[in-house]
Amino acid sequence: MNLRMLARNLRFFALVVVVSAAASQMSNNVGAQKTKKPKTAPPSANKAEKAIDSKVNTAPNNAEYGARIKEYTTESYFMTELVDHLPASDKVPSPDKVLGYAVGAPGHLTYTKDLYRYYRELEKSTARVRTFMAPEKSEEGKEQMLVAVGDEAALAKLDRYKQITAKLADPRQGTEAEAEQLIGEGKALYWASGSIHSPETGSCEMLMELAYRIATEESPFIQAIRKNVIVLITPALEVDGRDRMVDTYNYRKANPDKTAPPFVYWGHYVAHDNNRDGLGMALALSRNQMKTFLEYHPTILHDLHESVPFLYTSTGTGPYNAWLDPIVIDEWNLLAYHEIEEMTKRGVPGVWTHGFYDGWAPNYMFYVANGHNAIGRFYETFGNSVADTMDRTVTAESQRDWFRPNPPQPRVKWSLRNNVNMQESAILLAMNFVSNNKDRFLKNFYLKSRRSVAKATNEGPAAWVIPSDQPRVVEAADMVNLLRLMGVEVHRADKEFTAKDQKFPAGSYVIRMDQPYSRMADMLLDTQYYNVNDPRPYDDTGWTLGALRNVKTVRVTDRGALQTPMTLLSSDAKVAGTVSNSAAPVAYVINHNAENTLMALRYRLKDLKIDAAEDSFETAGQKFNAGSFIIKSADNSGNLRDKLTGPVRDTGLNAVAVDKLPEVKTHALAVPRIAILHTWTNTQNDGWFRIEFDRLQIPYTYISDQVIRDIPNLRDKFDVIIFPPVGGSAQAIVSGIPMRGGPIPWKGSEVTPNIGLSPDQTDDMRGGMSLSGVLNLQKFVEAGGVFIPIANCARVPIDYGITSGVAITDPRQLQARGSVYSATFSDRRSPIAYGYGETLPIYFNQAPLFQVAAAGGSGGGAGGFGNPGGNSQRPSGRGTLTDPDIVQGMPLAEPPAPRRPGELTDEQRLQQGAFFTPPQLRPRVVLRFASDEKSLLISGMLAGGSELANAPAVVDVPVGQGHVVMFANNPMWRHQTQGSFFLLFNAALNFDNLDVGRGAANPRTGGGRATTDNY
Ligand SMILES: [Zn+2]
Repeated sequence: MNLRMLARNLRFFALVVVVSAAASQMSNNVGAQKTKKPKTAPPSANKAEKAIDSKVNTAPNNAEYGARIKEYTTESYFMTELVDHLPASDKVPSPDKVLGYAVGAPGHLTYTKDLYRYYRELEKSTARVRTFMAPEKSEEGKEQMLVAVGDEAALAKLDRYKQITAKLADPRQGTEAEAEQLIGEGKALYWASGSIHSPETGSCEMLMELAYRIATEESPFIQAIRKNVIVLITPALEVDGRDRMVDTYNYRKANPDKTAPPFVYWGHYVAHDNNRDGLGMALALSRNQMKTFLEYHPTILHDLHESVPFLYTSTGTGPYNAWLDPIVIDEWNLLAYHEIEEMTKRGVPGVWTHGFYDGWAPNYMFYVANGHNAIGRFYETFGNSVADTMDRTVTAESQRDWFRPNPPQPRVKWSLRNNVNMQESAILLAMNFVSNNKDRFLKNFYLKSRRSVAKATNEGPAAWVIPSDQPRVVEAADMVNLLRLMGVEVHRADKEFTAKDQKFPAGSYVIRMDQPYSRMADMLLDTQYYNVNDPRPYDDTGWTLGALRNVKTVRVTDRGALQTPMTLLSSDAKVAGTVSNSAAPVAYVINHNAENTLMALRYRLKDLKIDAAEDSFETAGQKFNAGSFIIKSADNSGNLRDKLTGPVRDTGLNAVAVDKLPEVKTHALAVPRIAILHTWTNTQNDGWFRIEFDRLQIPYTYISDQVIRDIPNLRDKFDVIIFPPVGGSAQAIVSGIPMRGGPIPWKGSEVTPNIGLSPDQTDDMRGGMSLSGVLNLQKFVEAGGVFIPIANCARVPIDYGITSGVAITDPRQLQARGSVYSATFSDRRSPIAYGYGETLPIYFNQAPLFQVAAAGGSGGGAGGFGNPGGNSQRPSGRGTLTDPDIVQGMPLAEPPAPRRPGELTDEQRLQQGAFFTPPQLRPRVVLRFASDEKSLLISGMLAGGSELANAPAVVDVPVGQGHVVMFANNPMWRHQTQGSFFLLFNAALNFDNLDVGRGAANPRTGGGRATTDNY
């Protein structure tokens, strides 16, 4: 902790004392304010001027609607003159005319079909509104709308304005003088994006009124917006989640005496994480935002969220993303402080910035703007989620701080309309400001684009290279295609080239840093360092995509590399697999390189008998890794080549025909029946697993913990059960939602049609897997099934005693938040290690820390055995840290001979007695975090690394006929960890042969008694 932080914390503690002492008095004050309203301070001259500006309105106002606004607003100071009225129009319908209620009316949340209906009515009635559809439908087949609002002449020439921003986005075309002319002619595009987070409901309502107001109001303030700005509106970004959220609200209204269902599915795959897909683009909504950005090049993308009171406008605590042009940081501050000043001048409390999130990770949706030289920003307003007015308590945010001199009140009656007023007022102020400074913002956009192109020759690097001679060319192509989706230009080297002393073969991908979107590519591929003394990270701290995808990337600083002849990819990179020819092959061999498509191939070829090699081998002049597929002609009838050709080509793999069977031990490779298990408390993390299985077309059954509870013969139905991460204690995971009150359905009905589109449904969400589920899981494993609990879920088999020999320890000093760490395969003979090299970068987020007993015992205490003496302290004495201690006056004692890992002395064996675990039943550590603390961190944050160094990452625990395979790392995290997928796939594919390689003679000592070979 540095001094500044210490001082800040001391001040914080002091504040807590003062605040808690004064709390009751403060709430009294609020009550007093209520009685003598209006409390608003006397308007300054400036405010009066503004008020006049925005109130002048040649058209009459809709008095009825204005009365509703006032009625629904709980205090006059949660209102501004910008939104306390609505212009009347006999031509253009206001929201109430189409929906039957004014925006912000209690009791009303609007379905997307009605949002769209409203915008289409606007489009029909005025040339100031146009609607479009985003390129992709949602996962559940719903359309996602985009609305443009502006001056009719501007909208008529929308294509011209798109052309202008596209030209400014790529300064390589045209001169600076031409750019000046375009800036003068162009419009700023301000894009407001509603409700990516489904329980944050207000923005979808607000945006309808905003569109109407901008289209109809004739005040100078709104006219100024129309003059220079084209407003883009995404009415609801997560459309599946929006409609399900409205369902749950309608259920609540229809069943006032029942407990409403917890909101367990937002989108089809993920919930809150849907705005953390900026690095993976796995969701349709992310791709739509990206493609829309690249079509319009909006100056600003404004993402509307609702969490903290009353309005947080984004800047962040820092550390700020280190790959952004510093100009954009200034723009965040410029816009935020404009809104804060203007809202504060209007007497609105609780508008603030800085102390909410950090500004570091680029995984947020609005990086489609920030990462592309535009401005990405967000609000957090105070939302009730439901459309009910209620008393709310404000805790920490009601404290004054340097960044919040005008804080929210600690107790407040809050309405949907208050939320609408806050959002709409502030965003109008921002739009007006951008319009008045249109040339400045467009010029900055152009300048940032130019500075991105100059990156190669200025700060560097010159390029990133993805060499073509690497084991996972399919994965490399997939990463290239992700970059292309983000608008990044990717070239292929026409011939071999050298940069500094490094040679790259022809066909290597080159991502030049002299292109407009160099920064996006650089921030994805580079490594991150997050200083632990910086403010607490808000999310992941490291994300290096090459490492997480196990794809080799090289940062090239040698500018000479840019002179290499290269060709721009004009379509996505695609690796076509091949089947080699032979007159009468005895088998086809497919190398296992941990390409994820190999798993897909097993299911495409599910009717074929396939063997897995248990060791590496050479045949037909090629080297093959352990785990390689051997498909024998004798085992498979019909024309094998024909059967292989399509699937092998599509998966980008190579089947090599051999005339002689390779001399290697093999086992038959199953086509495992996989289940992905979810609870009814949280489904987000399993969504990231489902998305990968669906994408790779790997079949699975999606089951809830109630299936586990109710089906005693799980082994008859499944071979492998994967349990993606769920938080909480083992007891909380097993118990689920308490069995209190009546049943809580998550089910489609007349009131909840969209819940019926969820990935799973139930008549009653309560109960969890319960103890009978734990017993069923135990029976499943003992009967030969493989249970794979990921991360925290390992607590279930550990704490309920399904496994022994593994414990979870609490870190004391470790700070390892969402980062990339180096891991080493400690048991390369395990089938889980098939296809991999010696090491693998993995994603890990702080917990769990596994401890594996050396040989028997419960797992606690005995500790790992891979770090013999590494941290042990020798007594003070002569010599160095590694010298033996010497006792004076006694004969020199020889140090004990080193023992093999896991080997027990007779003395220890005697002590363990009945608790001694024979070697074949001991947990097998397949993958460990790097043993050297210094080489542990690849990207992100690390302190107290000695606790993580050498800790087990993947542990295979034999139980009866089956196995429990535990993961400390999350192998399927946000479509970023493709390099780790095959750890999971290997465990599944070899579920009935996981003991292969166990107890093999230690190659280093050449024999001896059998033992686990994990060190
Ligand atoms: Zn949110």
